Formats: sequence, structure tokens, C-alpha cells
Amino acid sequence: MATEDRADRYPFRDIEARWQRTWEETGQFRVAEDPARPKYYCLEMFPYPSGRIHMGHVRVYTIGDLLARFKWMRGFNVLHPMGWDAFGLPAENAAIDNGVHPAVWTHENIANMKTQLKRLGMSYDWDRELATCDPSYYRWEQLVFIRMFERGLAYKQRSRVNWCPSCQTILANEQVEDGRCWRCDSEVTTKEIEGWFFKITDYAEELLAWTDRMPGWPERVLTMQRNWIGKSEGAEFNLPVAGRAGLAITIFTTRPDTSFGMTYAVLAPEHPLVDSLVTGADEAERVRAFRQEVARETEIERLAADRPKRGLRLSARAVNPFTGKEIPLFLADYVLMGYGTGAIMAVPGEDQRDWDFARQHGLDIIATVKRPDGWEDTQAYTGEGVKINSGFLDGLSIEEAKRRAIDWLVEEGIGRSKINYRLRDWGISRQRYWGAPIPILYCERCGMVPEKIENLPVVLPQDVQISGKGGSPLAEVATFVHATCPKCGGRARRDTDTMDTFVESSWYFLRYCSPRYEGGMFERSAAEYWMPVDQYIGGIEHAVLHLLYARFYTKVLRDFGMITLDEPFAALLSQGMVIKDGAKMSKSKGNVVDPDDMIRRFGADATRLFTLFAAPPERDLEWTESGVEGASRFLNRLWRFVHGHAQELTGGAVAGALSDAGRVFRRTIHETIARVTVDVERDFHFNTAISAIMELVNALHDFERDSLDRTAREERGALLREAVEVALRLIGPVCPHVAEEMWRGLGHDRSLFAEPWPAADTAALARERVTVVVQVDGKVRGRLTVDVSAPEQAVREQALAEDKVRPWLDGRQVAKVVVVPGRLVNIVTRA
Ligand SMILES: [Zn+2]
Ligand SMILES: [Zn+2]
Repeated sequence: MATEDRADRYPFRDIEARWQRTWEETGQFRVAEDPARPKYYCLEMFPYPSGRIHMGHVRVYTIGDLLARFKWMRGFNVLHPMGWDAFGLPAENAAIDNGVHPAVWTHENIANMKTQLKRLGMSYDWDRELATCDPSYYRWEQLVFIRMFERGLAYKQRSRVNWCPSCQTILANEQVEDGRCWRCDSEVTTKEIEGWFFKITDYAEELLAWTDRMPGWPERVLTMQRNWIGKSEGAEFNLPVAGRAGLAITIFTTRPDTSFGMTYAVLAPEHPLVDSLVTGADEAERVRAFRQEVARETEIERLAADRPKRGLRLSARAVNPFTGKEIPLFLADYVLMGYGTGAIMAVPGEDQRDWDFARQHGLDIIATVKRPDGWEDTQAYTGEGVKINSGFLDGLSIEEAKRRAIDWLVEEGIGRSKINYRLRDWGISRQRYWGAPIPILYCERCGMVPEKIENLPVVLPQDVQISGKGGSPLAEVATFVHATCPKCGGRARRDTDTMDTFVESSWYFLRYCSPRYEGGMFERSAAEYWMPVDQYIGGIEHAVLHLLYARFYTKVLRDFGMITLDEPFAALLSQGMVIKDGAKMSKSKGNVVDPDDMIRRFGADATRLFTLFAAPPERDLEWTESGVEGASRFLNRLWRFVHGHAQELTGGAVAGALSDAGRVFRRTIHETIARVTVDVERDFHFNTAISAIMELVNALHDFERDSLDRTAREERGALLREAVEVALRLIGPVCPHVAEEMWRGLGHDRSLFAEPWPAADTAALARERVTVVVQVDGKVRGRLTVDVSAPEQAVREQALAEDKVRPWLDGRQVAKVVVVPGRLVNIVTRA
């Protein structure tokens, strides 16, 4: 297209390719530990190699690259690595659809995306690149798996789990969003299956406690994690089953104060005690049918407040130990086995779900908290108040009554105080092929045995039939399944599930510290030097997935004595989405912008500039073509200026006193430095930082135009050069190629990114003030102190508002105001 090669456009294709090559050849961004320098670990969440970089990637990597380059210039030793979260389902689905092996598909995609990232000019240390599907990578998590297995932190259990019928695999609780699969959006069902779990619940309290000690994280993400962990304090106690000596149901409640209002109790349909409570074939059949009905509901449906609650009354009855009275016993869908003890005492007076259920089933409702005046009994009451209808608790406040009820349970020997968490253990078994094998074998004689450490890695076999018909594909690979028992040398079968890919992403940031290290998961000294990640950047969608798993895994490694590190990420930035025409870019909406297309038409620098300029990083970014064009125009204008003034820009440093205009311009230069530094370093307001640089470039043009006759030639040249150099250094982290090109063009032989970030000169920032005389109709009426460079308009307004001057203007009209800068304001009036 003709417009693409307009003569007034700077040659960005040539420039970008050249500097990308140079940075790579000179190893500009290759790093090693250097205890003499402060380190900065800048990390963007690594991508899944889907095949193409999209605009969301461009945004997050551009933010990371800006920070990395900025920190280089601030004197930090910067680790900025990139790699590939390379296991996962899409590769397997591509294999099913197109017959291409997941490994081939993945490696081709990695090659494509790497080329694209390089075209964007990202400052990665490519020597540290890693792909998680590489056996030299996953062997270390197999080793850690075995250590976890030995300590009971990895365990196998048959349980009812989330099942994605489309992905044909188990999902962890964190991977179910509103009842749907996090990856494919299919409705999730449940399935009773045997699988491996990581005992993240052992770390619930620590994971929660640290959320108050992570000031670098967005409050929103911390709140999501706190809610997900869901700590609640209460009591656990036993309800005897009437007429069945020795049989009792353990319940958990956060409101032991309401125990006197317990008018029935509920068991989760899956509760293991149910079978021993059932009497007779009829009841057994009713229970079986009820369980089947409930199994069809998702957990979200079961917990939904606004739907009828299914219940089945059992013939057995329980005893409320507080009142000694018998109460009915139900199975109900709104009680889940996974929370608390899988059984609850129902207190319909003070719990809305219990209220709804009691109303539906005609059960008693007893208020145990005094209602406020005018309260209408149409719902449960959950507010404050004095205890009533509660025996020895009557008259107490809710808090006092909770404590007193727990004391009583302890005295009676039937209960205790208890803390519960909503967090469940992390189910990591996946019934799929493209993942890291679980290093466990099943021996006929020895049972479950971990693979020998020296036999690691357990390599994922390549020759496998992937049908997508369900069941672990590895189970079909005889050479993989049939193995030797590491303990007795007898015949054994391998576990044929693979690990959740979130296991790989739970430690890749540690591997980057020493990616080729052969002696372990990471070289300790390197990890101790680089960790924690100083700035982590990635989407909010990982708030309770990756970000929680990685925190947990790091703590496990710490407790194994592998590193002294409590938290992996010191600071987190969650960038907003890239949207177009008001919607997230997606193929189905037809609003996808291809980064390659943008780079080809406008260059990587203009694309990066627009991405950072169009919105603050946490906000959504609306993509507009005119915006990229604007970014491109700005760069062209700067380019033309620098090239058009090559002669003048050879000047040396500013010497001696400056003219008034020169002083004002120099102050603008240094004010810009101060603003941009704060915006980038403290506030992450990259968009306002860029505005400030654009204003500086405007001021540069103005000064160039206005100073020709007013300012001495040396001063003019020196100031133009200072302004251009400052502008290039400030814009460098945003638009590295064109900035580097112009920088070298000014005669510098070192890279711009080896230069220090400019420092604002405090002397230049100082404002000189002068006293100005104010006359009204030729007579001195007052004095003003104003900034020497204050614009005329500001001086005029200040003069008219001056207290000593205003009385002389009373009842008169201002006809004219004459300002003699730095000396005098004369106000001419008429009646
Ligand atoms: Zn799915
Ligand atoms: Zn054996």
C-alpha cells in the first residue's frame, strides 16, 4: 500500500530489525548474579504456546518491557526472562483434530510466538528460555512430587470431584467458575474418581495470614484469595442419634450460640454415616434415588440461595444436646460433604437457607436472638441482639453466648471450638496425555511405590494414540504402563494420569534463576539472589488459580529446606483487557487486531507506544486504529526534529547564566524528568508519563521556533540537545528501537539502555520570583510576588484579584490591562 511507505515516515522496519539484531548479538539483556548491584526481577506470566501472540500478550509484555528497561537505566541488575507454559489440552485437541503430535504442534507454536515476541523488541534474556514440556524441566517437579508424597502432602483419594465432560478430565475447585470449566466453558459435572491431591489446606492459615503482609499486591486480588480460603471460626460437636447408642453425627457451626434453636439437622447426601442410619429396603431405595437426583446438580446450583432446596427426611432422629429434645434428620442438597463435617445443625431462626428449608418442609422455627422492634417474621434474623429461648445463654450477647456455648460443649465432653476453611485440597490428576507423568507405580506386592529418584524423569512417551474418547491415553501405551517395581523389582503398573499444568507454573519463576542447572530444581545461590520476583504482571483471572498455587508451592519448597522464601511475588500488577468496539477481542466477535499487522504497518515502537499510552495498566484498553496512527505521528515528528536539527544538536553542555526563555525551557525539561520518574516508578501511570514526554516534545518545538532571535546560538544548541537527549532517554523504555537509533545518531557509542536514567536538576527546577508593581490608572496601588516565568494571563488575574487593588476597581469597568513582564501591571479603568 502506498501509505505504508510514505516518504515522511521514519524507516521503522529497517531500524527495528537492526537494533533487535544488535541487542541479541551483543547480549545486551543477558544477565548473571552480581551481588554488588541491586537486582530487579521483572516477570510477566508466561504464555501458553497457542501459536499466535494476541493483543493481550502485547499489552502485558510491553508493560513488563517498559519496567525492565527502566530498571536497567536505574542501575539495577535486571532479570527479565521468557518461556512457555507448554503442557495443556489445546495441544492434545489439535492432535485429535489434525493428527499432528502435541509435541510437534507445541514446538512449532513456540517458534512462531518467539519470532513475534522478538519483532516487538522485548528485552528478554533468551538464554533462560524454558518450556515446561521438556523432561529436563518436569523431572524436578516429579522429584518434588515424591518428596510431597513421602510427607503426606501429595495423597491419592477416591472422592467426588469436578469433571469437565468436554475436556474429559478432573478439575480443581479453583478451575470451576460459576459452574463452568475455566478453559472450555462447558458445564461442569461431578464424578466419583480416584485422583491425586496436594494438601494445600495444610497451608490455609499461612496463605491467609500473608495476605495481610503483601502491600505490593492489588487489594482486589488479596480479597479474592481471602474469600477463597474462607476461614470461619465456630464449634464442632456431636449430635447423638436417638435410640442408637454410640452413633453420633458431628456437625460444624459458626453460630454455636443458636444451638437452642436447632429444630432439625441435615446431612450431605454423600455423608458416609447415611448408610448406617437407613433402616429397611424402602428407605435405602429412597436414599439411592435422592442421591442420584442431587448428583446431577452442580455445586454452584446446590449452594444457590434463590432456588428450592431438595430434602429427604430420614426415619432416624437426632438429639439436640442443648435441649435434650429429639429432632428430625434430613438429607439435603444444600449441605456439601466438602465443607465442615458434611453435616449441619439447622437453626432456621437465624439462618436464611435453614429458614427456607424449614418453611418448605413445615419444620419449627425458634428465634434465639431478640428481634428489633417492628421486625416482621418473614425471614431469618442475622443481626445483633440479646439471646432468648436459649436456656443458660439467655440475656447474653451473641459473642458472649458463642463463648459460653463452646465452654459448655467442652465441659460436657461433646465438642470444641473449631476453625474451618473453605479451601479444599488441590486435585492435580488429569486424565489426559499432554502433561507431566505422575512418578508413582503400583506393585502387586508393595502397593503404591514412588519411582526411584535416579530413574527420574519419568518421560512422557511420544508414541501414543490420542482419540479424545475419554480415559487416560497413557493407559493404552503398554511400554509405559508396564514397569519394574523400584522396591522389589517385581511387576508394576505406572500411574497413567498426568499432573495439572498449574503444577508447572507453580515454580517456573524459580527455574528461570538457573534454567540449565542439572543438580536440582534450581541452584540455590541463584534463586536466593533473584527471588522474590520484584514485579509480577499478569491477568486477574489467575487470582485464585495460579497465584494461589504458586504461593503454596513456594512455601512447600521452603519447608523442604530448598530456599528461604515465604512468598514468591513481592508485587503484582494485574493489567486490564484489550477491547475493541467495546468488547473483548475474540474471533467470534470479529474484532481481533493482529499484532503482526500493526507491527508491519506502524512498527513495533508505535504499537508499544499506543498500548502504554491509551490507558492506565489496570484499566481496559480500547484499541483504536487512529490511536496507533497518532502514536506513529508522534514518533515521526520527533524523528524529523532530530534529523532536521542535526547541526544544532552537536552543542555541548549549557554553560553560564541562561536567558529568561532558556531558563524556562530548561525548567520544563527537568520538570518532565521529575514527573515521568514518579509516574513510572511509583505510580505505574505510564500513560501520563507518556503525555509528559509528548508535552516536552511540544515545548522543544516551541523553543526551537521562538529562540532563534532571542537566545544566543550556543545556549540554544545546548538546550535543544539537552531536551532531545532527555526525551530519548525518557521514551526509550517505551519505544526502544527508534530511541536507540536517534541516540546513537547523536554520536553516542554506548546503548541508550546502558545509560543512566536522567536525574532532575534541582537548580533547574527552582523558580525565581520577582515583585511586580500594580498600578490602577497610573497610580501604584499594590505589589505582587510572581514567578519570573508566569504567563501574562496569570499575572493579570492575580493583579485584578489583589486585596489592595480591588477597592480601586469598585464600581468601575476595566478597560485595559497592560503587563510589562517582571516589572509592572497597569490597569486602565473607566466609570
Ligand atoms: Zn473443559
Ligand atoms: Zn514391589
